[in-house]
Amino acid sequence: MAVACPSCGNARSFQVKTLQMHVIQVDDSRVNIAEENRPAVFEVLCDECEAAVPFDEFDESTRREILLTLGAR
Ligand SMILES: [Zn+2]
Repeated sequence: MAVACPSCGNARSFQVKTLQMHVIQVDDSRVNIAEENRPAVFEVLCDECEAAVPFDEFDESTRREILLTLGAR
């Protein structure tokens, strides 16, 4: 991996936070999902020290692999 935590140097374990939008319809007491988008990466933190790691500093193939693994965009 071409990126490491700027604070502690960890290059293996990261926390990736994603955001996902759901459109729901409430009908009486039933809730249906009308629309969902794919999750988007919101924030990446080092899993060791929780420093922010800029996602756009990961090399492109790693970034693509992460998005693919998470089903994100
Ligand atoms: Zn760290």
